[in-house]
Amino acid sequence: MHAEDRKLIRVVIAGGGSAGWMTAAALSNARPDCHITLIESEEIGIVGVGEATIPPIRKFNQALGLDEFDFMRRTKGSYKLGIQFVDWVEPGRRYFHPFGTYGRAFDFAHLLYFWHQAQRQGSASSSLDEYCMAWEAASQARFAPPLSDPRNVLSTYDYAFHFDASLYAAYLREISECRGVVRLEGRIVDARLGESGEVESLRLQDGRDVPGELFIDCSGFRGLLIENALHTGYDDWSHWLPCDRAAAVPCESVGELLPYTRSTARTAGWQWRIPLQHRIGNGYVYSSKFIDETAAADTLLRHLDGKALAEPRTLKFVTGRRRLGWNRNVVAIGLSSGFLEPLESTSLHLIQSSILRLLALFPARGIDPAARDEFNRIANSELERVRDFLILHYHLNRRADGELWRYCANMPIPDTLRESIELFRRHGKILTRPYEVFVPASWLAVHVGQLNMPEACEQPPQARPADSAKWLEKMRANLHSEASRLPTHQQYIETHCRAAA
Ligand SMILES: Cc1cc2nc3c(=O)[nH]c(=O)nc-3n(C[C@H](O)[C@H](O)[C@H](O)COP(=O)(O)OP(=O)(O)OC[C@H]3O[C@@H](n4cnc5c(N)ncnc54)[C@H](O)[C@@H]3O)c2cc1C
Repeated sequence: MHAEDRKLIRVVIAGGGSAGWMTAAALSNARPDCHITLIESEEIGIVGVGEATIPPIRKFNQALGLDEFDFMRRTKGSYKLGIQFVDWVEPGRRYFHPFGTYGRAFDFAHLLYFWHQAQRQGSASSSLDEYCMAWEAASQARFAPPLSDPRNVLSTYDYAFHFDASLYAAYLREISECRGVVRLEGRIVDARLGESGEVESLRLQDGRDVPGELFIDCSGFRGLLIENALHTGYDDWSHWLPCDRAAAVPCESVGELLPYTRSTARTAGWQWRIPLQHRIGNGYVYSSKFIDETAAADTLLRHLDGKALAEPRTLKFVTGRRRLGWNRNVVAIGLSSGFLEPLESTSLHLIQSSILRLLALFPARGIDPAARDEFNRIANSELERVRDFLILHYHLNRRADGELWRYCANMPIPDTLRESIELFRRHGKILTRPYEVFVPASWLAVHVGQLNMPEACEQPPQARPADSAKWLEKMRANLHSEASRLPTHQQYIETHCRAAA
């Protein structure tokens, strides 16, 4: 059969937020056998607050052929080495969740063991952060990409980005349209189902019908196709992740351009601070059971570093997941598939991961239920791993200043997380399960940061405990001096990827 005789698969994407345009860009790149139409409504708009990411987004951008500096300029982005958690355990305590590892590339187990030993003897710094290259660079507001030589400590960190999500969607739209994606402006008012129960076409307000074989629901929290049309159902996880609102507001940039996100616990939730080149993104994520909208907005405005650039905007959500991410011929990607709150900046990553899974299981010759089940099985596991990681932060708090925190400390947690907490507490070991999004060093950071201290720690075969304090001090000093040779984050951006004013 000649290529031109091959039937094109009509893929219709409902929605043009980050999810819609990430999907359009990736499909148009990888599936020349598809005719892709994306429908979005400017009148409805997008959520537009996905500003912080985790390192795998770099691979996604690379796969799309984006030049990193061009991407940074276009999205007014900054670099992210991790997240600093302030007051999460109790007021006055802080720790860092780094991208990368502790110590050098191969001595993670040594480091934890030595640190644990020295802690017991009272001779190590009480903060594990000081043995971590990502934190050393972050705390000095420095940044350069890691080196590739594993013998060098400058190879032990990783990085992601902060960026303006609306600009990212616009950038990907340009790329997608160049690759043949057809964009329709209009409001979807109905989905027509065939006898088999599959979606056959979408009806727009102006009367146009858009038919297709495969529909991607990127319509945001509404879940226009996956829920309104197919009634798939939603697993509500708000008993584990009780925050259900966010007040968001940008403010003027002040001070140094920090290469990390800050998350500060507040009485009824937590506040994010995300530095971009042209402004700082801020938001208070809270539970409406414990604070009202006006008080939350006031709290947010009182804790800004610079002058607010707009009125706070309130977003509502229910934490949880759609029962099936792929139902019949509809695949939900983005907020339509669920939302686990932005604490660890995982939503854009989950979009990326759904897209890659869809590409791997793509229904080029019609939908095979086995492929659909595999898609849903992996999505469920991945979401449960992220869910557990997020609950870990809330559950292991010792704050006594708010009902939210007392509730979280005492709530029943998933068995999978309980096992993970107990294994770390007893032996200092990280339990990893299939489709884990976060690496062991991330779990270590939060276990220790939230004071889930190991009772015992196994001695690695070559570790010589007598040297532990000396070994740690050498490591700390080495990381500190190597970090101080990096350019500042601001200098790095000025040199390579400064956005136009
Ligand atoms: C408070 C908050 C903070 C967040 N922070 C982060 C973060 O730091 N990092 C991160 O990775 N993620 C974050 N997220 C999540 C992130 O914003 C979303 O995952 C991401 O923006 C994708 O959204 P979306 O495209 O699924 O939905 P939306 O942005 O809501 O887009 C939906 C699209 O569907 C269209 N649409 C809807 N109904 C219709 C209709 N009837 N007809 C036509 N078009 C329609 C809209 O016009 C729009 O184009 C955050 C989310 C929230 C709520």
